[in-house]
Amino acid sequence: MKIGVVGCSGRMGRMLLKEILDTPGAQLAGGTERPGSPALGVDLGVLAGGTALGVGATTDTRALFEASDAVIDFTSPEATVAHARLAEETRTPLVVGTTGMTPPDVAALRALANRVPVVFAPNMSVGVTLLMALTERVASILGPDYDIEIVEMHHRHKVDAPSGTALGLGEAAAAGRGIELSDMGVRVRDGHTGPREPGTIGFATLRGGDVVGDHSVIFAAEGERLELTHKASSRAVFAKGAVRAALWTRDAGPGLWSMRDVLGLKDS
Ligand code: NAD
Repeated sequence: MKIGVVGCSGRMGRMLLKEILDTPGAQLAGGTERPGSPALGVDLGVLAGGTALGVGATTDTRALFEASDAVIDFTSPEATVAHARLAEETRTPLVVGTTGMTPPDVAALRALANRVPVVFAPNMSVGVTLLMALTERVASILGPDYDIEIVEMHHRHKVDAPSGTALGLGEAAAAGRGIELSDMGVRVRDGHTGPREPGTIGFATLRGGDVVGDHSVIFAAEGERLELTHKASSRAVFAKGAVRAALWTRDAGPGLWSMRDVLGLKDS
């Protein structure tokens, strides 16, 4: 299966190139970068940290979509929306790992998903996908006496907060409780906040160093506390999940799918 990578010289883009080259059944269809990127023309094998393949990074996104059976996109929300339009025109399945997407950005993916399979997940690792399923389950078992707080830490380069994964965990907890995160999420606390509002789901964001991604979901009641934690120590886990998702689209129908669908965990 031929898989293309947009944003192929980014931190994730390079990992994705390597993972595609290392995965049986996957073939690298090519890679693109934004106009002006210093990586343009650089050999994709070299970007992947290996030997030259004789194919360089280009800006010809349409040609990449036409040459690919699926495209993987870990870029920026603006670029991802543009890529979704091309995916629709070329009927190419899309795997999106980009975070910080606004509701209108997600609506663009939803429109595309009427025509082709789209896998969209704020975190493509198998461990976090399980954490999401466990969070929903635990939130549905523990009643509103248990306050839910979500803590995340990432490297100093991350530009959005809370992380897409933290928000995804919040969505999972809200689904377990039968409430809407948009009504009950508290993303920032500062100054004289007053006591904790019952039933809310709180977020705390830490940034520093080279932390790949730590997430904890804390269920705190009077007398006990349950904590579910995942720590990623290599970005390779996200690339592995994304390539697995791209291969999965071969037999999937149109729809906006999550990693829980890819791993068959949807009803667990
Ligand atoms: P990065 O800045 O290192 O890489 C992004 C790349 O996209 C850059 O090389 C940039 O030049 C390129 N790009 C931007 N616009 C483009 C365009 N129009 N066409 C082609 N390329 C374009 O960032 P990163 O750390 O690799 O993260 C990228 C995104 O993936 C972020 O939103 C991040 O939060 C997200 N992410 C998601 C997961 C997950 O599992 N879902 C894991 C890690 C990172």
